[in-house]
Amino acid sequence: MDRESKRRLFAWTALLGFSLTLTLGLTAAVAMFVGSTPPAGEHAVDDYLARTGHRCLGHVPELDHAPGATWTEGWERLTEQDCRPGSWLNQFREEGQNLLRYRADQPNRVAQDQPILLRPLGRIERPDAARLVEPVREFVSLYFQLETRLEEGLSLPAEALDPKRGDEGQYDADVVLQALDGTCPAQAGACLAVTDRDLYVPDLQYVFGLGHFRKRVGVFSTYRVGKPRRNAVTGEREAVRDPEPLRRALKIAVHELGHELSLAHCVHYRHCVMAGTNSMAESDAGRLTLCPLDHEKLRWNLEFDPYRRFKDLAKFAHRHGLHPEARYYERMARSYPGAANAAGAGGL
Ligand SMILES: [Zn+2]
Ligand SMILES: [Zn+2]
Repeated sequence: MDRESKRRLFAWTALLGFSLTLTLGLTAAVAMFVGSTPPAGEHAVDDYLARTGHRCLGHVPELDHAPGATWTEGWERLTEQDCRPGSWLNQFREEGQNLLRYRADQPNRVAQDQPILLRPLGRIERPDAARLVEPVREFVSLYFQLETRLEEGLSLPAEALDPKRGDEGQYDADVVLQALDGTCPAQAGACLAVTDRDLYVPDLQYVFGLGHFRKRVGVFSTYRVGKPRRNAVTGEREAVRDPEPLRRALKIAVHELGHELSLAHCVHYRHCVMAGTNSMAESDAGRLTLCPLDHEKLRWNLEFDPYRRFKDLAKFAHRHGLHPEARYYERMARSYPGAANAAGAGGL
């Protein structure tokens, strides 16, 4: 989640408080608008929208990129149905960002010789979290097609810790980013800190990570991604058989780095990895891949070869048991002209 969204949440919360104070007699109407009981099923969402007039996408900028046929097969546009109570889009007003707006907004441009630096924040003590770091580093390098290095650790800023929050204390991600401001070397494209501690921002119970649009710093947490299930026979936790924790960590890492490359939350396609998410369930429904529009923004910024990128991602996904992703990346690679030249090179 970015700070702009958080600022908007403050405004939203303040406005709601004001309404409640002034219109006690309308409590029932306000409660209905807030939607404390999410309706179940598609028709219930229609009823909710009709009743409340709640619209979340009417103001977003027009889609200004026409993807090719392979892309349109796999992606559906977001609709007002996606603004159901409990969702991120229902809670936060996203301004949206099309290609024109992205290019006009002076995004953080990264050259091909600028590495991404992944930096542990404090000691990563939980073994399952420590095992995620190297696959995250490798995936990030393939996803952005930039050298990605694991660098020396940074210390956890003590002032960010609130020991009374959560089960084991939580770190304020805003305070962490303030501490990291200015620490990303000029020659690096972006820096991402990784921690196994739980993160929050003052008005949300927890966050998975936070990335700054301008300052090339971000942080993500493995605290909530879970552990692989134990094998019934060996008793071992096998990440390849149960890649869900890795999948979750990868989504968070590339989402926050996307923000560092000035990508805003996606408001154009359903289940894009750049969508804002309000819960692990909403994050799990999302995909480990960019929608056509966000892919185009990144391709324009980084000037990578999409064929090579999708081939690299497919190999990684196969190795780590991420089978639906492997099939998708492979299909996308085949849709690029480079596929014809590499046809004799032997599959994956
Ligand atoms: Zn975000
Ligand atoms: Zn998107």
